[in-house]
Amino acid sequence: MDCVFCGIIEGGIPSNKVFENDRVVAFRDIQPAAPVHILIIPKKHIPTMNDVTSEDDALMAELFAAARQIAGELGIAESGYRLVNNVNGDGGQVVYHLHLHLLGGTKLKGLN
Ligand code: 5GP
Repeated sequence: MDCVFCGIIEGGIPSNKVFENDRVVAFRDIQPAAPVHILIIPKKHIPTMNDVTSEDDALMAELFAAARQIAGELGIAESGYRLVNNVNGDGGQVVYHLHLHLLGGTKLKGLN
């Protein structure tokens, strides 16, 4: 399978990891759009949010739990942050392995 994030999970592609357990990995985005820009991904290859099923409910909760934990550890929980999931072309998705962008460390503009 030709998936860059699966390569990161398997270790063939280097990354700067900030979190890992048996089901979830988080690492710094290679082209950060904010002072803190973390990608949080399931180890299970799910291409987009459209492919999530009810079998993945606990896994989705784990992505958000990881986001909360990482935001706290990186010191942006109180100042605030944004979680983004891009879906398909109009959503701006480039990597087709489900991921949450955790963005923070500055006052974020747009979308509100
Ligand atoms: P998308 O547009 O699919 O929501 O976001 C994909 C993100 O993955 C982009 O922000 C991009 O910078 C990041 N990215 C793409 N390839 C790599 C990589 O090899 N390593 C890391 N750390 N991030 C990547």
